[in-house]
Amino acid sequence: MKNENFFGAIEGGGTKFICAVADEHNAILREMRVPTALPQATLAACADFFLQAQHDLGELTALGIACFGPLDPRPTSPTYGQILATPKPGWENTDVLGFFRTALSTHLPIGFDTDVDAAVLAESRWGAGQGLSNLVYLTIGTGIGGGALVNGQLLHGYAHPEMGHILLPVHPADISFKGVCPFHGTCLEGLASGPAIEARWNQPAASLPQNHPAWQLEAHYLALGLVNICLTLAPERIILGGGVMNQSFLFPMIRSELTRLLGNYLQMPQIADMENYIVPTGLAGIAGLYGGLALAHQALQNQQ
Ligand code: ADP
Ligand code: ZN
Repeated sequence: MKNENFFGAIEGGGTKFICAVADEHNAILREMRVPTALPQATLAACADFFLQAQHDLGELTALGIACFGPLDPRPTSPTYGQILATPKPGWENTDVLGFFRTALSTHLPIGFDTDVDAAVLAESRWGAGQGLSNLVYLTIGTGIGGGALVNGQLLHGYAHPEMGHILLPVHPADISFKGVCPFHGTCLEGLASGPAIEARWNQPAASLPQNHPAWQLEAHYLALGLVNICLTLAPERIILGGGVMNQSFLFPMIRSELTRLLGNYLQMPQIADMENYIVPTGLAGIAGLYGGLALAHQALQNQQ
């Protein structure tokens, strides 16, 4: 056993890939970012970064890849580690995990999962969900996506959850809006993502004033989505992140709408304490990389 451990993390996003190497206390020793161009160029730049880091610091103990989806997170699947049907040009069927296995080492423990699955794991270890084994992380940005920890384990069915695409009743005041999801129109993402707000009101979400009716409608749709998540998973806490949640006045609006919509049905002490039930990320600005690190730590533990 080496006396020093180095953990590699990749935050693979639709616009950029960020790579980092950290020590076992999560101190980031070096970091690199590269635009999400065609897969070969982007992944090769990431692999070069880790090879150089290994040369300078020592061998990686484990690597975690938190990646945009949809992707195949099922270890027994022939397409495990690949990105699936993405609109991102050139990335469909890219074998991200296989690339790093080949480029780095076939023995290296590598964790691979969605950015939101990684985020919920990181929040439970180091962020706003510490100590909780039933936790949900939902991002509301360009898209909406969620990850869940259930009894301490990341929740997967045959594939990873797609909480952003749950279907919701359209508000009577909003029936002329057709939604922006190319698959479902008015799913949660189609109604409440950043681009949905912008399409409905014809201006950037960030420029809408706090007293604009956009926000009450937004809080309503997010609360509707959260009702379904609460009823399905009974999480002990839900963490909301993503660009839209920069509008922090949304938090109290969502909490009161969620309380109203739940109608006192779920008898959980955590839900009675709404302030601590619907919360912002505890890892602002570092959630993505810490997601990768959490997957790396999990991969190492799974191997031990
Ligand atoms: P991504 O989802 O692409 O990873 P973000 O989570 O930052 O990135 O989400 C970007 C989206 O969030 C933008 O499309 C925009 O609609 C919305 N957004 C970003 N900043 C704000 C803001 N301050 N207020 C409201 N909406 C915002
Ligand atoms: Zn959808």
